[in-house]
Amino acid sequence: MDFALTDKQNMLIAQVKELCENEIHPYFTSHKTNNREFDLWPIRLLGELNLVCPTIPQEYGGLGLDIFTTALVIEEIAACWPGLAAVIDTNLHAVQPLLLAGTHEQKEKFLPLLTGPNAGLASFALTETSGGSDINAMQTYVEKVNKCFVVNGSKEYVLNAPLANFITLFATTNQEKKKSSLRCFIIPRDTKGIKIEKYYNIAALDYAQLAKLVFDEACLENESIIKEDELYSGYLLLSQTFDIGRVLVGATSVGIAKAAYEIAKDYANERVQFRRPIKKHQAVAHDLVDMATKIQMARLMTWQACWLIDQGEDYTIASAMAKYSASQIAQEVTLKASDILASRAYERGTFIEQLSRDARVLSTIEGTNNIQKNIIASLLL
Ligand SMILES: Cc1cc2nc3c(=O)[nH]c(=O)nc-3n(C[C@H](O)[C@H](O)[C@H](O)COP(=O)(O)OP(=O)(O)OC[C@H]3O[C@@H](n4cnc5c(N)ncnc54)[C@H](O)[C@@H]3O)c2cc1C
Repeated sequence: MDFALTDKQNMLIAQVKELCENEIHPYFTSHKTNNREFDLWPIRLLGELNLVCPTIPQEYGGLGLDIFTTALVIEEIAACWPGLAAVIDTNLHAVQPLLLAGTHEQKEKFLPLLTGPNAGLASFALTETSGGSDINAMQTYVEKVNKCFVVNGSKEYVLNAPLANFITLFATTNQEKKKSSLRCFIIPRDTKGIKIEKYYNIAALDYAQLAKLVFDEACLENESIIKEDELYSGYLLLSQTFDIGRVLVGATSVGIAKAAYEIAKDYANERVQFRRPIKKHQAVAHDLVDMATKIQMARLMTWQACWLIDQGEDYTIASAMAKYSASQIAQEVTLKASDILASRAYERGTFIEQLSRDARVLSTIEGTNNIQKNIIASLLL
């Protein structure tokens, strides 16, 4: 395994860092939660570097980045604005089934929508009221009627849904055998019969827009299905998509932890108690060392999983371990950073307070950490 960055990767990361530090982070901190409407300005800034969905291949207008380089980019974005990283992670997640199994025509139709300076957004719709972790509890049902697929049901907590150009939908074609009859569809958001029933007010990942989508006799074109093949089940496609998406949650976790550590380190230099900077108290210094060490562990586990994905090696255990450990570490590091900042950590709207809330949600998204442990146990034991 070699994680030495190429000149091209170094240049890209330097550009992303500069954009994040000089433009995106100042914008984030100056527009507080309560008065910020979703505005596309940060997306446009990333669009200028073609980073709204950087894994899209060059032939469809994207940068064609591998997963390792994408994780480096996501770490930087998450360190300056975690909610923005979640929006980009969702785009990457939504295009993954297309990249894995879409036809040239499907890719040509949808992928360019997420590229270039005016790139849009996409959603990934899986979770339902009846089933978050449990795919077999899914109720959204697809039926073939003449030349189209008719969908009925609903999907909860769909990130990017209010603004998405298209939706990657997982639904079942057989109510008795839900898991084996799972199918994936890529559909324009403005398809007749799809409407937003509810907007969620989430106390984390500020900027991410979530909604509940209802499918009421929504008629999907025949061409919207990804690989209608009994042997290539939608469940396999879903698992592969999650295996890749999880490492990006790992990278997001590392970015959040890194930002919290930097805030705590600076504060420990400045804050004087008992006539010396608090970093001179060994307990505080040891906390900072623990934080830095764990961040590096999370980063290396994430990079290892990325490397396996990019090499086409078996990566399921590595990506589940990376997501599980990095999201745990993000929670531990933000908690320790809050302890170091003490009373200053709880002022609503400060970056450290937001990072602590953002870190909490990482153990739930892309499969809860219990589900990661189930996956690891099923393959390891
Ligand atoms: C900010 C945010 C963004 C999201 N974005 C999206 C999105 O874009 N698209 C989408 O489809 N969904 C999205 N979700 C939903 C998310 O994926 C689900 O919340 C997650 O899969 C868990 O489902 P659930 O909330 O129904 O929890 P449940 O599945 O009901 O789980 C509840 C608890 O039981 C535990 N549990 C359940 N089954 C087991 C088991 N077999 N073994 C051990 N423990 C178990 C879980 O670990 C958890 O602790 C998002 C959620 C949030 C908060």
